[in-house]
Amino acid sequence: MQTDLQIARAASKRPIADIAARLGLTPDQILPYGHDKAKITHDALAGLSGPQGRLILVTAINPTPAGEGKTTTTVGLGDALNLLGHRATICIREASLGPNFGMKGGAAGGGRAQIVPMEEMNLHFTGDFHAITSAHNLLAAMIDNHIHWGNALDIDTRRITWRRVMDMNDRALRDTVVGLGGPANGFSRQTGFDITVASEVMAILCLARDLADLQDRLGRIVVAETRDRRPVTARDLQADGAMTVLLKDALQPNLVQTVENNPALVHGGPFANIAHGCNSVIATRAALRLSDYVVTEAGFGADLGAEKFLNIKCRLAGLSPAAVVLVATVRALKMNGGVAKADLGSEDVAAVTAGCANLGRHIENIRSFGLPVVVALNHFAGDIEAEIDALRAYCAQQGVQAILARHWAEGGAGATDLARAVVGLAEGGKAQFAPLYPDAMPLWDKIETICTRIHRAAHVEAAPGVRAQLEAWQAAGHGHMPVCIAKTQYSFSTDPDLRGAPTGHTIPVREVRLNAGAGFVVAICGQIMTMPGLPRHPAAEVIRLDDQGQVEGLF
Ligand code: ADP
Ligand code: MG
Repeated sequence: MQTDLQIARAASKRPIADIAARLGLTPDQILPYGHDKAKITHDALAGLSGPQGRLILVTAINPTPAGEGKTTTTVGLGDALNLLGHRATICIREASLGPNFGMKGGAAGGGRAQIVPMEEMNLHFTGDFHAITSAHNLLAAMIDNHIHWGNALDIDTRRITWRRVMDMNDRALRDTVVGLGGPANGFSRQTGFDITVASEVMAILCLARDLADLQDRLGRIVVAETRDRRPVTARDLQADGAMTVLLKDALQPNLVQTVENNPALVHGGPFANIAHGCNSVIATRAALRLSDYVVTEAGFGADLGAEKFLNIKCRLAGLSPAAVVLVATVRALKMNGGVAKADLGSEDVAAVTAGCANLGRHIENIRSFGLPVVVALNHFAGDIEAEIDALRAYCAQQGVQAILARHWAEGGAGATDLARAVVGLAEGGKAQFAPLYPDAMPLWDKIETICTRIHRAAHVEAAPGVRAQLEAWQAAGHGHMPVCIAKTQYSFSTDPDLRGAPTGHTIPVREVRLNAGAGFVVAICGQIMTMPGLPRHPAAEVIRLDDQGQVEGLF
């Protein structure tokens, strides 16, 4: 059995200009980053016109430690569509650097359904995240510098919400004091670091339509309040221009290829809890102009990832999916049915059937957006036939096709049945996409609507101050924004151990945050980590270069 890394290294990559040519892009419309990566230039992006392809969203049941395989299925489906003769492009997120050195596992798919060069994609890639880190921290530096030189804006140093970021898991930086050491070093105050993917700059880069829109959004970022409680923005600090300069290359989407030489745009990577969790709008829109099918992935399970993809990204970018693929595995369904990870090997049809309640609820939710859905059963070696049959029987009852997909083991050829089903749904013209709530709905009502209709809470509770804060933003003209729910990805409820399809739960909204630049309000429901730590034995301890100078221990 070959490892992901061995498969990726053995891939015979085509020159990136050939992949671009498949999309109809000429050599001067791409900016090569070496032999196998390129950015699509701003000029090329601005010139894209003509008919749009069909957008296919890949999402999943609630994640479990058993693994579901959304990225793997996204890549496998893209390869399968190309095998069937469709012009399909894959759109996924870039990887965060920090987690690679904690637990093993990349973000480029797996098995024979991978994107290459996978090592680079998981490490520095084309430098986008470094640019985002720099732009974010430039703004942080300008805040402290502004205060140092007299604080003309009257920033209340106790009410600065803009922290610093770094693309590394480093719990020691979660809470810090800056400005120690005397007058030459500024005024001391408490602050901290988040991981780069949690930066609002990341969310902004992923929602911006072009450079002008990027600068507008950066300017709207609220970083602090004045002593009389007025918002202070990046534009007030005159930081938006320089931040845009730092981000101008990063805003261009990255073109790479699958191990089967099909095009993939890998661009942006916002968190799926405090942000919307999908690749950039620019990449998706470009791919839609350049191909007949675009297969893209949303983070976490469908209750968080698909909900945000549809209510935030599609709403803000005017996108409309043609079909949704809901990924499930019998292993994960068994865990949703109450089986412990250690016991996944033994047959338990009753647990699969019980776990299907989780799948069923996601199916219902996706249909409530007016979208047709197909279940992709991501096949693992060792899956038990009787358990697969139980899943099929459940889906038949729900009137949903369940397609066994073997792309992990076989590449695109293993997912052609899935691809045919997706084409059938997409061409069937059944999609009548409508977001869950209108722009005009008040912010609190939006939170309640998502929590009751998608997460199926019986009650939604606001911590003291939350309702008043939302009303203040409403009055200040932010009421039209969509809401981003930040909660555990493991359950419909806020209790990560409550798998399956819980009902009757209460969702407590502890805190709300305004992302005025990105254009959404975040509702924090439960503990959300914005700077991860490393485990007791981080993967970093075994990562090294071998005698041939190749990376070892990363995957
Ligand atoms: P997600 O996008 O849902 O987080 P990924 O597609 O990244 O999941 O897959 C997570 C891990 O599971 C990867 O290491 C991948 O190689 C592995 N994996 C996915 N599908 C299979 C499968 N069918 N058999 C074995 N391993 C798989
Ligand atoms: Mg993924």
